[in-house]
Amino acid sequence: MFIEQPPWLFRALYPQAIFRMDPNERAVYLTFDDGPIPEVTPWVLELLEKYDIKATFFMVGDNIRKHPDVYRMVVEHGHRIGNHTFNHIRGFEYSNPEYLANTKKVDEMIHSELFRPPHGTWDSGSTTHCDIITESLCGTL
Ligand SMILES: [Zn+2]
Repeated sequence: MFIEQPPWLFRALYPQAIFRMDPNERAVYLTFDDGPIPEVTPWVLELLEKYDIKATFFMVGDNIRKHPDVYRMVVEHGHRIGNHTFNHIRGFEYSNPEYLANTKKVDEMIHSELFRPPHGTWDSGSTTHCDIITESLCGTL
């Protein structure tokens, strides 16, 4: 299994952010992306409740706007919420200010310290968006 890790220097610059977990801790973190979606999310919540499992939902802001009742269901069930940008944008298609604005829009809605870039990438190989978002959500250097 390959686990991607940010470079050492980046982790040193942002000590507040969680980049690694204790390798001796035996845990599985279950995550769901792109919701809330009325056709899927309640079904997922029902299954998680049946097996007494908590998960993290990385949500798209526009879906929260469209389906606030489904968003509230996830929160009321005690699951964690993470930021997945407002429009599920691809980092390399946007400038830093545009990407940050899109991400901050969701941060204002959910106030989460968790962020997952859509499509699994920040931009075309640099960590520029990553720097900005980490500073925004974890504080400045
Ligand atoms: Zn996604």
